[in-house]
Amino acid sequence: MLKNDSDHKAKSMDLGPKLKPEDTFTFSCGPHVPCFTECCGKLDLVLTPYDVLRLKTRLDMTSSDFLDKFASLRQRTPHGFPEFFMKMNEDSGNRCPFVTSAGCEIYEDRPGACRIYPIGRGSTKSPIDGKAKEFFFVVREDHCKGFKEKTRWKISDWLQDQNMEEYNRVNDLLMELYVRKAHRSQFCLTERHLKMFVMACYNIERFRDFIFGSNFLRKFRLSDELVHDIRESDSALLEFAFQWLKFALFGDPTITIREGSPST
Ligand code: SF4
Ligand code: SF4
Repeated sequence: MLKNDSDHKAKSMDLGPKLKPEDTFTFSCGPHVPCFTECCGKLDLVLTPYDVLRLKTRLDMTSSDFLDKFASLRQRTPHGFPEFFMKMNEDSGNRCPFVTSAGCEIYEDRPGACRIYPIGRGSTKSPIDGKAKEFFFVVREDHCKGFKEKTRWKISDWLQDQNMEEYNRVNDLLMELYVRKAHRSQFCLTERHLKMFVMACYNIERFRDFIFGSNFLRKFRLSDELVHDIRESDSALLEFAFQWLKFALFGDPTITIREGSPST
């Protein structure tokens, strides 16, 4: 898995060529590899909004409690939006708080970055139709002995095996916000914007309180079905959060204002 030491990265990480879903690589990870769980420490392990939602649900915690206990906030990021990272456990040599000698104790809900490794995913704009085109690469690191294993994977099969589909789908909604901001180079996020972003993306309970405990539903027209879904389902509410942020930050017409509505 990706370590956070920049010298180490520069010396031993090889991103290789851009690959397609049908391209293959050889890799295997599990208790049979000599480096098993060695990479689960000293990590810059980013937690996306969907990671936080999965983990706080798995641990039966509120988002606030989860973030307080397991995450640290970084305000300065390349895309300008705050990001959360998994807090490594200082008492155990900066190991991930969820690693055990038997492996990852939250395996079914581990963050997307842990799942997809050693594959990286990116996108470029097609010069022909302007649409985003997905590509992949293999992140080869010297410390990872999984590359010495013989199992051959098609990239598409690896993503399916690691249940990346839902992670990629929801994370892409976050990427749309990053891209939206990047296309508006003069746009500056205010303190209010940043607070709204953190609440809507990472604190689903507070975002629900904001919607159901304010003038929100009197000001904005949401279908009965959507109101039901975002009241009952954290996943539906997170997806709605991305629509709301496009409206609240950039003025995109993703939400309809009721005529003669009160101000929130
Ligand atoms: S979440 Fe699990 S897989 Fe990811 S670093 Fe922690 S222990 Fe390892
Ligand atoms: S094979 Fe790679 S990903 Fe698996 S435990 Fe070893 S270093 Fe980590």
